[in-house]
Amino acid sequence: MLTTRPRGTNDILPGETEKWHYVEKVLREICMEFDYQEIRFPIFEHTELFQRGVGETTDIVEKEMYTFLDRGQRSITLRPEGTASTVRAYLEHKLYALPQPVKMYYIGPMFRYERPQAGRYRQFHQFGVEVFGSFDPAIDAEVIALAMNFYHRLGLKGLELRLNSVGCPNCRPKHRETLQSFLEKDLHRLCRDCQGRYERNPLRILDCKNNQCREITAGAPTVLGSLCPECREHFEAVKEYLDEAGIRYLIDDRLVRGLDYYTKTAFEIIVNEIGAQSAICGGGRYDGLVESLGGPPIPGVGFALGMERIFPALESQGISIPLENQLDVYVIALGKAADRKAFQILLNLRLEGIKADKDYLRRSLKAQLKTAHRHNVKYALIFGENELEKGTVILRFMETSKQKEMPVDEALDLIRKQMDKKIKM
Ligand code: ATP
Ligand code: MG
Repeated sequence: MLTTRPRGTNDILPGETEKWHYVEKVLREICMEFDYQEIRFPIFEHTELFQRGVGETTDIVEKEMYTFLDRGQRSITLRPEGTASTVRAYLEHKLYALPQPVKMYYIGPMFRYERPQAGRYRQFHQFGVEVFGSFDPAIDAEVIALAMNFYHRLGLKGLELRLNSVGCPNCRPKHRETLQSFLEKDLHRLCRDCQGRYERNPLRILDCKNNQCREITAGAPTVLGSLCPECREHFEAVKEYLDEAGIRYLIDDRLVRGLDYYTKTAFEIIVNEIGAQSAICGGGRYDGLVESLGGPPIPGVGFALGMERIFPALESQGISIPLENQLDVYVIALGKAADRKAFQILLNLRLEGIKADKDYLRRSLKAQLKTAHRHNVKYALIFGENELEKGTVILRFMETSKQKEMPVDEALDLIRKQMDKKIKM
C-alpha cells in the first residue's frame, strides 16, 4: 500500500513532465492568441453544485463522483469537470457585469470514480474553455477552431470533428415524446440503464453503447430532425462559419453529450489511433446552465479536452515533442579546493540564466565527463588543483572533445558569447 498509488491515478515522472510543459505551453499560447484568460477554481466544491450543474441523470453524478463529508459535516465533492465551477465563479464574482463575452480557460486535475483502463483514469487532467454572454454561432465556431488549432499545432492528423445540435427547451419536449413513443414497444428490451433513462432522460438512450440498445434505436427520430426554426438557423450558421474557416466536420445526429445542460451545438473530436477511448475533446453550447444555477439567463459555450489522451495519439502518429536541451554547461572539479571554486562559478552561471550543473558525488574525471556527455552539454569547465593555483580553467567543447586551458574569465566570456548567439538565432 505504502509504495503503490491509488488505482486509476498516475505519477507523471521527470522525462514525462517536460512533455506536459510543452503541451501546456502550446495551449496557453493559443489562448493568448484567441483572447481567452485563465481561471483557477477550487479542486473541491459543494456537492450540490455538481448535482445541479452537471445534472442528476448524468453518469458523473449518478456514479462517478468522489463525495465525502468534511469535518464540519458539509458534503464536498472533488471536481469531476470544470464547467460548473466556472459558472459558479462567474456568478459569485458577478463577471456578467464585465463587457461580454467573458472568455476563460482552465487546466488541471479532475476526479471521477471510473473503471480504470488505458486513457480512462480516476484522476485525469482536462484543459477546457468556457465563453459566457453570447448567442452568436460564430462563438461556437471559435471554440471549435481553438481546439482544432491546438491539435494541428501539435502535429496531429486524422482528426474527426463530429457535429450535432441537441435543440433547446422549445424543440426538445416534442422530440422527447416522439422518441418515447418510438421506443415504447421495445422498452423491456433496453438495457437496465436505458430503462431508467426512458423517463428521466430518453435522449441519452441514443448514446448508449450496448449493442441491443443500438439495434433498437437504429431508426429512432433524432433531435436534429425536429429542430425549431431558431435552432435550425443557429446550426446552419455554425456550419457556415466552420466551412468559412476550412474546418471539416461530420454531422452525427446521434451525438448526445453526457451532460444535461447542453443546448443547440454539441461536438466531439475523435482520433482513431488510440483505441477504445478515442474521444479527445467534447463540448457544446449550454444556454440554460447559468440560469439553472441561479443566475441571469446568460448563454454559454465551451469544451473540455483530455490531456492524458493526447500523448498516446502523438505517439501512435510518430510525433515527438520538441524538448529543450536541459543543460548548457557541466562544471567538473577535482579536489576539495577546486570544488569550492567550481561551486561558486556554477551558481554565477545560473544567475546569468545559463543552465548548468555539477557532480555531487566526488566522482572521477572520467565519470564526470561521462555525465557531461549524458546531459548532452556543449561545454564542460574543468577545474583541477593546478588550474586553481594559476587562476585558469580547462574549457572543453564536448562535441569535438577539443579542450583549451585559459583564464577563468576568458572561458566564461566565450561561453556567454556563444550562448548569446544561440539565443539570437
Ligand atoms: P467518455 O464518454 O469517454 O466517458 P465524457 O463524455 O465523460 O467521455 P467529458 O466529460 O466530455 O467526457 O470530458 C471531455 C474529455 O475529457 C473527454 O473527451 C476525454 O478526452 C477526457 N476524459 C473524460 N473522462 C476521462 C477519464 N476518466 N480519464 C481520462 N480522460 C477523460
Ligand atoms: Mg465519462
